[in-house]
Amino acid sequence: MSETHHVVIVGGGAAGIGASLGLASLGIPHLLVERGELGGQLHAVGGLLRDVPGAEDVEAERLCDLWRRRLDAAGVPVLRTEVAYVDVQPDAEARYALHLAGSGEVLRTRILLLATGASPRRLGIPGEELVPEAYTLSTSRNPERFAGLHVAIVGGGDRALEGGLNLLPHARQITLITRSRRLRGRPAWAERLVSARHVTWRPETRLVRIARDADGTLLLTLAPEGAPEEVLRVDALLLRLGMAAHVPPLGEAIASALERREDGSLRTGEGGETSLVGVYAAGDVATPSPFRSVANAWAQGLRAAKAIALKLWERR
Ligand SMILES: Cc1cc2nc3c(=O)[nH]c(=O)nc-3n(C[C@H](O)[C@H](O)[C@H](O)COP(=O)(O)OP(=O)(O)OC[C@H]3O[C@@H](n4cnc5c(N)ncnc54)[C@H](O)[C@@H]3O)c2cc1C
Repeated sequence: MSETHHVVIVGGGAAGIGASLGLASLGIPHLLVERGELGGQLHAVGGLLRDVPGAEDVEAERLCDLWRRRLDAAGVPVLRTEVAYVDVQPDAEARYALHLAGSGEVLRTRILLLATGASPRRLGIPGEELVPEAYTLSTSRNPERFAGLHVAIVGGGDRALEGGLNLLPHARQITLITRSRRLRGRPAWAERLVSARHVTWRPETRLVRIARDADGTLLLTLAPEGAPEEVLRVDALLLRLGMAAHVPPLGEAIASALERREDGSLRTGEGGETSLVGVYAAGDVATPSPFRSVANAWAQGLRAAKAIALKLWERR
């Protein structure tokens, strides 16, 4: 099957939903495609969101519910599937072809908004597959489950430090492992964490291999700079290496034309226009990591909606 649309948004997180509601209020028909749960990363937020305008101290799940209801009320069609591959074709009225995972179906569209967010940066080392939960395990929901455990945390940004602080009252021991000699996260959090009696910081150290012994203990092979490898035995592991912009697989013609920053995020103009005519981007996929937030993603979605509407109206 093949359908043609004027506008397709890929990604139903804060940016995609913000854009979709923006387009709906401007009277622009469109399709929203989401492969998982509407709300995206918000489902990984354990605690309260304190910095969303108009929704002080709100639970992330409540915000997702509110957004879902608003999409329903606006009558936005939502297709629950994954865009496996995006390609370009010669037809200017339906330039982008979105190949859907599994079904072999293709959606064609003149305007494509990528709101595909960010996903945890991977280590890419042997044994990583033994601990898939290490990337997403929440430390704010039920931190008691870490009671009495030795927990290793890899990473030195805010999420790593926050995870460590959440575990301070529960874990028996925490080992913080960073490649760098300095911690990137908030200085106040870093100081509180590394000064705790049961926390050991291993700077300039790389985790190079993960194994598990018969009783479930994790065996982490560490490579400290300038010293021989050693094995650290821990009960749990948190991998907090930051989030990388997530762009779906692209055909060669699109991939080579889309400008990116060094960190992989897409470069955009003021209304989310990318370097490719008809392709817009909003939210984490288009934002360098220190500046990512729900409010930013939503606002970028709204800006892209306005820019897309102006583009379509130009032709009338
Ligand atoms: C643990 C955690 C805590 C955070 N805490 C806060 C906080 O307190 N305050 C704050 O402001 N921000 C916080 N953030 C950041 C904030 O959640 C994000 O910046 C924001 O939600 C990004 O929205 P987005 O729409 O750009 O991306 P995402 O939420 O990542 O949404 C992208 C969506 O695209 C979908 N998608 C991707 N590829 C495809 C595809 N090929 N086909 C179909 N669908 C696809 C994904 O399934 C996802 O739903 C936190 C993030 C995390 C992970």
